[in-house]
Amino acid sequence: MNKTAKPLITEAHTKGGQIAYFSMEIAIHPLMPTYSGGLGVLAGDTLRSAADLGMPVAAFTLLHRKGYFRQHLDPSGGQTEETQPWNPADFCTELPTRVAVTIEGRRVTLRAWRYDMVGRFGHIVPIYLLDTDLESNTGWDRGLTDHLYGGDTNYRFQQEVVLGMGGLRMAKALGLYVDVFHMNEGHAALLTLALLETQLGGGPQDGPTESDIERVRQRCVFTTHTPVPAGHDRFSVEQAIRILGGDRTARLRDLGCFHDGFLNLTMTALRFSRYANGVALQHGRVSREMFPEFNIDSITNGVHAATWTSEPIQHLLDEVVPQWRRDNLCLRNLIDLDEEKILTAHARAKVELLAEVASRTGQVLNPRVLTLGFARRAATYKRADLLFTDPERLAKIAKASGGLQILYAGKAHPQDEPGKALIRRVVENAAQLSNDMLRIVYLENYEWKLGAMLTAGVDVWVNTPQRPYEASGTSGMKAALNGVPSLSILDGWWIEGWIEGVTGWAIEDGATDADEAEAMYLKLENTVVPLYRSQQKWAQVMRTTIAYNGSYFNTDRMVRQYARSAYYTGVLLSSTVQLMQEESLAR
Ligand SMILES: *Cc1c(COP(=O)(O)O)cnc(C)c1O
Repeated sequence: MNKTAKPLITEAHTKGGQIAYFSMEIAIHPLMPTYSGGLGVLAGDTLRSAADLGMPVAAFTLLHRKGYFRQHLDPSGGQTEETQPWNPADFCTELPTRVAVTIEGRRVTLRAWRYDMVGRFGHIVPIYLLDTDLESNTGWDRGLTDHLYGGDTNYRFQQEVVLGMGGLRMAKALGLYVDVFHMNEGHAALLTLALLETQLGGGPQDGPTESDIERVRQRCVFTTHTPVPAGHDRFSVEQAIRILGGDRTARLRDLGCFHDGFLNLTMTALRFSRYANGVALQHGRVSREMFPEFNIDSITNGVHAATWTSEPIQHLLDEVVPQWRRDNLCLRNLIDLDEEKILTAHARAKVELLAEVASRTGQVLNPRVLTLGFARRAATYKRADLLFTDPERLAKIAKASGGLQILYAGKAHPQDEPGKALIRRVVENAAQLSNDMLRIVYLENYEWKLGAMLTAGVDVWVNTPQRPYEASGTSGMKAALNGVPSLSILDGWWIEGWIEGVTGWAIEDGATDADEAEAMYLKLENTVVPLYRSQQKWAQVMRTTIAYNGSYFNTDRMVRQYARSAYYTGVLLSSTVQLMQEESLAR
């Protein structure tokens, strides 16, 4: 590793300040339960790549002291949840700075814990985890930063005040000079309200002028992750008045942050951002249809390559494209990789995964048998049970293939009863259908490490969302980096990543669930199973999967796109310089 290489984007340090990245969840470290799923993993991977690239980024999130839950499943698939308290001092440094926000008229004090995300050349991206567990706060307020996505909308709203408004105050109190505020999803949108108030010098007397609003807009960018209206955070007028106060609520309403009579945080973020994007091409289109008055771009998600490749694959890449960690584009050169090499590396990852399955469940699977993986949040639109639409058909495919193994994992949100019922259905089917030829296992407590082992160790990554609910999806990208092709509905990122028979296979659109199940069976029977018998041809799909999709669907490429399209536009640089000059004159 070349330790002397310079970080790439150093000019930003001299031109101005930082990019402040706000996210309700961030997968920072495998032992810190501060994330629930895809959104948090994306935030973590974004910051890992920003650190690798030497970008001047600082991040803000909540501490989530009680941790996202650990999942337990009883033999019939019933989920129970256990909190995972963790000790911030094991990973972070407590800072002496204190700031306060007003919630329901109460003054809530907060502090921050600093975690240093260190890039591969030693550049540090600090992450500030906000914490209200202080003696000066009431019991309720002390718990505001305990649970990620816990409680009701009341609790969520108050957390969002802490993240958005508290985060902004903390950034100021820490003396950060922030050029760009990046809101990762609408949860942090209230920071725009705090920015506007700062712009007005704290005086709520007169309404803001267009130029006040424009000043805020010039500093904010926003990424939306939700493809359906119901998924956007929204709060009733009464709730907003109670929590934020009447003046602030009226101001937000006057500024067009309400939608269908609710305070809508996506609208708020869009209204106050000079740049907004969806997380895949299709998601950009869907978002523009949902919010036609805004110009919404798209930057397709990625994953952090070195985090999500298995050890055996990393060794292989170090051997054949040694510069891949510095520049993921090099993975394109795997196009003519020796077939034996990739088969061997993947076989090792598969053996490791199956050993883990055996140690967790006592079920011994066969490393030579075609193995499908399906792991994601147990939400009904993801249709984890689509493979069981016709059990006899599935059994037939297993027989024709000389055996079939399917690994499942995924948590349901604690309040999502249909999601929990879905897990029970998959577990019941697994028990009923498993035989010598077909082995189906549901693994408990899907999280970072299990996700990494699954995406690296199975042979095919399956995804069956109902269109267009999958904004992007990233687990298939992790699989691709490990040479594992996808078999997926054409939704989210897969519309862009799919080259039939080269990076995986499409499940063609149908009018009904049953039609799409049929399309999946056909693809398995006629294409996937026969191809798996020819390991050389299979290896050719594996190598093109890494070459085409691993080289593109990574956060190395994604963060560079954010730098060019969202962070450092010509407008920004000139307005920043102007702003700095004005601020220094005013001092
Ligand atoms: C990557 C990852 C996700 C996101 O994957 P999707 O394809 O969006 O479902 C969720 N949870 C964990 C633990 C992950 O590692």
